[in-house]
Amino acid sequence: MRKDNTLYVVIPCYNEEEVLEETTKRLKEKLSALIKEKKISKDSRVMYVNDGSRDNTWNLIKKINEKEKLFTGITLSRNRGHQNALLAGLMTAKNYADVVISMDADLQDDINAIDEMIDKYHEGKDIVYGVRSSRKKDTWFKKTTAQSFYKFMKFMGVDVVYNHADYRLTSKRVLEEFENFKEVNLFLRGMFPLVGYESDVVYYERHERFAGESKYPLKKMLNFAWDGITSFSVRPIRLVLNLGIIIFGISLLVLLYCLIVKICGKAVTGWTFVVCSIWLVSGIQMLSIGIIGEYIGKIYSETKARPRFIISENLEETKKNK
Ligand code: UDP
Ligand code: MG
Repeated sequence: MRKDNTLYVVIPCYNEEEVLEETTKRLKEKLSALIKEKKISKDSRVMYVNDGSRDNTWNLIKKINEKEKLFTGITLSRNRGHQNALLAGLMTAKNYADVVISMDADLQDDINAIDEMIDKYHEGKDIVYGVRSSRKKDTWFKKTTAQSFYKFMKFMGVDVVYNHADYRLTSKRVLEEFENFKEVNLFLRGMFPLVGYESDVVYYERHERFAGESKYPLKKMLNFAWDGITSFSVRPIRLVLNLGIIIFGISLLVLLYCLIVKICGKAVTGWTFVVCSIWLVSGIQMLSIGIIGEYIGKIYSETKARPRFIISENLEETKKNK
């Protein structure tokens, strides 16, 4: 068992007045039980992050905070989207907590998985990913789009944990290192694996949203996927480069073909010149764009200034602290 066991559950909320009451009730039971079992400390809290809601969400959060000592909240100055709201919550919670779990307000992710996550934390894991074991309860549309999303991400060279969204446990030291990832285009589920440390997964069933509607319509989901790819992978640039190489290769073949036709005397005057020019010039252009793209890709990753390494243990320090 780890001694530092103050848990904060961070929950971004955007227009969630319909679900907050029920969510609060269920989480209160869960946290109280965990405190009783001494798995988490008495200072543990649920932290709601109001993401600039237009409805009564923030007033509700304030009311809950007054009534229940296990609940607290922060509010953003305006709507900044799920990922930013979540980051705001994580970075605030890490100042008070030893371990943080992030989840959605609608409790589609089974809160009973929290027990197992905490157990893994006590076993020494620093990140525990919640993974959906099945999507039986999701609509056909959500299931198909979500699954294609993970497959497409993989194809585009983004390393994500399959069927893992933003239900995860992270220890304080992970969040402290995470603060050094200064990028603005957030794709949190792809960034945490970059931090490293020992991790594990916990499987759970995904439920239906018990009230309210999804705040992730198709358009937002597509934007999110595109953000994920362009924030993590230079594969699209590589595809352009590869295309350039192929077209350039074909243009050499076309050149050969045109010469043969010319030599055989079957070409109309000017034809060889025009056809060869088109192929050769487009091939060279595509290739050049690809090469420039490679450099832009490099500049892109330099500007993100991600940490180049994270040391998880230094025996020199370990000795001193003994
Ligand atoms: N959310 C947010 N800001 C937004 C959109 C969504 O904080 O701009 C929150 C929302 O309140 C919920 C979580 O993100 O807690 C996930 O949203 P939702 O459940 O609607 O997505 P789905 O489960 O349908 O993918
Ligand atoms: Mg949901």
